[in-house]
Formats: sequence, structure tokens, C-alpha cells
Amino acid sequence: MTTTYLNLIDGQPVPASTGLTVDVIDPADGERFATLPRSTAADVDAAVAAARRAFHGPWGRMTATERGRVLTRLSQLITQHHAELAELESRDAGKPIQQARVDITACARYFEYYGGAADKLHGETIPYAAGSTVMALRVPHGVTGHIIPWNYPAQIYGRSVGGALAAGNACVVKPAEDACLTPLRISALALDAGLPPGALNIVCGLGIEAGAALAAHPGINHISFTGSTVTGTAVAQAAAVNHVPVTLELGGKAPQILFADADLDAALPVVVNAIVQNAGQTCSAGSRVLIERGIYDQVLAKLKARFEALRTGPGAGAPDCGPLINRKQLERVQGKLDSARAAGAEVVARAQLLAEAPKTGFYFPPALLAGVPLDHEVAQDEVFGPVLAAFAFDGEDEAAQLANGTPYGLTAAVWTRDGGRALRMAHRIEAGQVFINNYGAGGGIELPFGGMKHSGYGREKALEGLKSFTTLKTIAISHG
Ligand code: NAD
Repeated sequence: MTTTYLNLIDGQPVPASTGLTVDVIDPADGERFATLPRSTAADVDAAVAAARRAFHGPWGRMTATERGRVLTRLSQLITQHHAELAELESRDAGKPIQQARVDITACARYFEYYGGAADKLHGETIPYAAGSTVMALRVPHGVTGHIIPWNYPAQIYGRSVGGALAAGNACVVKPAEDACLTPLRISALALDAGLPPGALNIVCGLGIEAGAALAAHPGINHISFTGSTVTGTAVAQAAAVNHVPVTLELGGKAPQILFADADLDAALPVVVNAIVQNAGQTCSAGSRVLIERGIYDQVLAKLKARFEALRTGPGAGAPDCGPLINRKQLERVQGKLDSARAAGAEVVARAQLLAEAPKTGFYFPPALLAGVPLDHEVAQDEVFGPVLAAFAFDGEDEAAQLANGTPYGLTAAVWTRDGGRALRMAHRIEAGQVFINNYGAGGGIELPFGGMKHSGYGREKALEGLKSFTTLKTIAISHG
């Protein structure tokens, strides 16, 4: 049976004004199981107008404490609906069910975190001229636009909308056409939690239609974009016409750096998980492993054994790796693997494909590669699939050079027992987050997250993320 999902505008479930829809495909078997509204500029207009009314209406008049309570109640509702939401996320995005559960827990945690922070966002007073008092207030932008990708719909929705609502903005969300069912469901729960209609609107549809209309909308005061670098550029260009600030959370090519003195028993399960998690469709996927030459052969043999033991199959069966999001992504990832092989790379290991995986699903068993030329796209650019490329290095200088040798700078990990070396490397690596002897692909709600270089700018998560959803208003009083 096909379910018909609707937009949420001004607290009401509504179809696209054109009546058109987009098919929702189950990545596990390639079958259509639902439809979404294929919204256009007219629907975005309606959502922005509803958000503006809410911002100047009941939502805008709520105290920060009341806003925080609404978000805390929403967090509790997400937890109460945890099993239902995890199943929905698993089916919609093809995730192993255990990963979907983690994602829903993280989403609830974002609303808990930002609910608690809402009334702790202080401005400043500033020493100025004699006989004056000056204060800088932290005020919401107004109406914020949120364009989110398909790889972590619930998590990225939570981090983006949670911060924006806590700061007092009214939101218009354009979730990804390939996976957006949990944002829709959670937005309905937000109404049950007491969020006034219009404070949170969801407009589904294609990026080039609804997404582009939102990015270019003159009624938007801030845009939070998470997605690819190419689309990020388009969104920033569209927003620049309206002089609207943008947070860009883009891609990555994260290195896992293993020195010869690393605790391999601790490191290797994490190195494998960092690329297999979410079938490698993670901006912070650890897609490169840099290995000190003295332990290169030993580490590669151990990684090979771990890769060959991984099971790939439908998300509902809790495999190690689920399907990719769609056929296009499967062909893209396969194409990059083929291209790397043609350029001289060796496929050291491949994971297993479970017999129960339907032939019509979008499965790509994880692959471990060696000998990828450094200038090849698999060494330089996101594969956005479970492909780990191994490289050897000699010493800290070469490790830093390799780690920084891509256009990206999102996350990295250093594995060593030498504390001085760990810190030296952390300072030299150009990335928004550096983990030492651990790795948190996608995790860490309390940790500021965002990129350097082509990984984007601005920060989400943590209190820094909350501040991103505010601007400063300075009030200078002369009182003699
Ligand atoms: P994408 O850029 O294709 O799409 C992201 C969103 O933008 C979707 O909602 C899409 O509909 C919309 N969109 C597409 N074209 C648009 C346009 N012209 N104008 C406005 N909106 C448009 O990315 P994707 O394929 O959905 O996601 C994968 C990418 O996201 C990867 O590159 C990944 O690294 C990145 N990502 C980054 C982070 C992070 O926090 N840094 C997190 C997750 C994913």
C-alpha cells in the first residue's frame, strides 16, 4: 500500500499546490511505498508567510523558558515514539535498524539539549562612553530556512531546527526528496508538544524546485544548509542576492591516522565503523586510513579480515551495512571504484552480501582499497559510499601533508600513545574537529561541528550552533 505524505504549513497537512507528487522508494528493494508533495515556489511562499505570522504572533511572544519547555516536551514525545520513528527512518533511508535507533535517540537529544539551553542564551554589556550603558542583545534572525540531506534526516533536522527554534526563530524546512519521513512525523509531534502553528513548516519536494525557491526567498533571514559542496555554492549564491547569512555544512574526506604506537585493538573497530556506518554516506565518514609504514602490512591484513566479516543486507535485518540511498548513488559509487581500479588501485577486501538482500535493492558491500593514486578522485573527493582507501606514510610531516592534502577539512582522527605527537598533529590538521584515540562520526551534540576549506563555514551543534541562529542587536543608552 502506498502512503501519501503531505507538507506541514501553518500547522496543517497540505498537498503541493500543483497536486504533483514525488515517489518514495525503499532502498532495500527498490519498491515505491509512499509519495511526497512535489512543492514549488508557491508552497514555499505559503510556508514563509506562515512562519512570519508565527514569528510576529504567539511563537514570537513566548518567553525563552516557555520555548524551552515546548522543545523539552518534543524530545520526550520523540522518545515515546522511538520504535515507530526508528522503523520509519530505517525504511526511508535504508539504514540498519540499530543505526536508525541511534539517530532517533540523537534527534531527541538535540531537542532536549536546545530545550534546556533556550533560556540560557545571554547577551553582553559593553563598557563605553561615560554616562552610558550599552548592551548587545542576542536576538533571533526571524524566519530561518533549513535545507537538509537524506543521509541523516532525523539527526540533521534535530540539530538545525532544534537550535533555530530554541533561539526564537520560526522555521521553514526543505528536507531531501530521498528521505524525509521522520522530519515530517516529528514536526507533527511538535504541534502536540505545544508548538504554535506556523512556527515550524515543512515543504517537501525537489532540490531544484522547492529547495532553490527557499534559498532565493526574500522573506528568509538565515539559511542552514547541509549537503553537497556543489549545492552549497548554489544556495550561498542565491542567499547572497538577499544578503542572507548562510551556514554551510558540506562534505569531508576524513583521515584516520594510525601511528605505529597506536592501540590497534581500540583503533581498528572504530576505523572500520567510521566508513561502514550509514553505508559510508556520512559527511564525516573516515574514508581514508593513513598508516605508518612500519605497521602498514599488519594493519592492512587486520582490516581485510574485518571487512570480509561484514554483512550487507536490508536495514530491517540489522546488518553491518545497509543499502545505498538510490540507484544513482549505487552507480556513482560503483563508477568511482571502477575508476580507481583502472588507475591502478587494488581491492584488498570486499564485504559479504547477504542472500536475503533483494536483487532490486541498492547494495554495495564495503570495499577496502590500497594503492589509490593520490590525485585520483577516490583519494581526493567524497565517494559517499563504504569505500576505505589505505595509504602509507613516514613520520609526522608526511602524515600531516597527506591528512591536509584534499580540498576538505571537516573531521580527522589521530591514533597514537604519544601525547605530545597527538597534540602536535591535532594542531597541524586543518579540520573543524580532531579526535585523539577516538572518533565520533556524526556524534557529539555538545561539540561544535562544521568545516574548514571546502567543508563549509559556520558551526552547528553545541552552544555555538545556538548562537548561529541569532544575530546581535546593540542598544546604547546615554543617561548622564
Ligand atoms: P545535495 O546537496 O544534493 O542535497 C541536499 C539538500 O539540498 C536536499 O534537500 C536537496 O533537495 C537540496 N537541493 C538540491 N539542489 C538544490 C538547489 N539547487 N537549491 C537548493 N536546495 C537544493 O546533497 P545530498 O546528496 O542530499 O547529501 C549528501 C551530501 O551532504 C554529501 O556531500 C555530504 O557530505 C553532505 N553532508 C554534510 C553534512 C555536514 O554536516 N557537513 C552532513 C550530512 C551530509
